[in-house]
Amino acid sequence: MNCVQKFEFYTPTKIYFGKGAETRAGELIRQMNKKSVMVLYGGGSAVRNGVLGRVEDSLKAAGIRYIVKGGVHANPYLAFAKEALEEARKEKVDFLLGVGGGSVLDTAKAVALGLANPQDDIWDYYLRKKVPTVSTPVGAVLTIPAAGSETSNSSVLTNQDGNLKRSCNLDINRPVFALMNPENTYTLPKYQIGCGIVDIMMHTTERYFTQEEGNELTDQLAEAVLRVTIENGSTAIQDSHNYEAMSELMWAGSLSHNGLTGLGVAATDFSCHQLGHELSAKYDVAHGASLSAVWKAWANYVYMTKPSRFARYARKVWGVCETDDVKAARMGIEKTVEYFKSLDMPVCLPELNLGELTEEDLRELSFRCTYENTRRIGAFQVLDMEDVYHIYCAANE
Ligand code: NAP
Ligand code: FE
Repeated sequence: MNCVQKFEFYTPTKIYFGKGAETRAGELIRQMNKKSVMVLYGGGSAVRNGVLGRVEDSLKAAGIRYIVKGGVHANPYLAFAKEALEEARKEKVDFLLGVGGGSVLDTAKAVALGLANPQDDIWDYYLRKKVPTVSTPVGAVLTIPAAGSETSNSSVLTNQDGNLKRSCNLDINRPVFALMNPENTYTLPKYQIGCGIVDIMMHTTERYFTQEEGNELTDQLAEAVLRVTIENGSTAIQDSHNYEAMSELMWAGSLSHNGLTGLGVAATDFSCHQLGHELSAKYDVAHGASLSAVWKAWANYVYMTKPSRFARYARKVWGVCETDDVKAARMGIEKTVEYFKSLDMPVCLPELNLGELTEEDLRELSFRCTYENTRRIGAFQVLDMEDVYHIYCAANE
């Protein structure tokens, strides 16, 4: 049926986009009448490139009391979030400000949940044992176009006890504001730009590859996000100081994961995210690289369940003219893989340099990916543990 399907859309994050956006932090937090802020950042890039300093200046100028906590690891850890939560409690923090990418913002979201729900262990939210209904406000100063956490409902943490990487997806996690200055991405290394481009594309395709038909505007928005990301990604990876390219990527990152490109899609796929999360949990692989390393194997495994969908992707996103759906589908997969290669992103497991993965390793990954064979993943094609194993095997060739 060609009509807009039923959906809900909630995207409360106020976005300030453009040069100097980060200098508004203090004024915005003051307007909300917040008294005590915890500023979180990662391994030090925000210190070195001056973003953190500008954010602190704006907090000082607004007369806001704040503490700063650095050290968020990429693929962030539950233990660090709990440590930050303890400090935040002592300081009676009532606002979390993340300066960084998905890892920092996801940690801020976790601390925010913990502050508002002192009776609970936050990990229960990630295990889906409990569902909190309140959180503490979070603001985002974005430094990398990638995860889309600045507008998403998601927070992803890794519990090193058992190497479990889990997400907590709730509307209360969405930041109240996002300050997005493309200049704050200029210091990104090529590899991180590549990882970000892949993640933006995957957030879009994991909603786009669906069995559902008829959400024409949603489909065309997704295709536009993909085309713009692909084109500007090629420029940005060659020249991280290119404002035009970085600004397009930065905005695409938010739109790819705030829900817009999946409106009306009841069952989104997200298999590559699940396959990739296990690689990150066990081997600490960068998120974007974990996705590009499995995408080809996943696409080749599933495209015949509905070649017409992959053919549309090939034609609308990659300009493929082939009229035969199966041939066009294959060409779209090939173009995507070639594009990842052009970004120097891995397109199979050996390119992740994890050493030789044995059959036992791949079996274990499949077991963990399906939560010890208690769930299936995906929606375009629903995958059980055996399917997952075959995909990991194909990715390992
Ligand atoms: P990230 O893990 O936040 O950061 C990756 C690396 O980029 C870090 O080493 C960081 O260094 C560096 N970096 C960031 N900004 C920089 C800059 N301007 N200049 C130089 N280096 C910079 O990257 P991410 O891809 O945004 O986040 C990945 C995490 O988010 C994963 O855990 C993933 O599973 C999760 N994720 C979350 C969502 C969501 O909706 N919440 C969606 C997808 C993925 P420093 O540490 O030194 O700053
Ligand atoms: Fe992602």
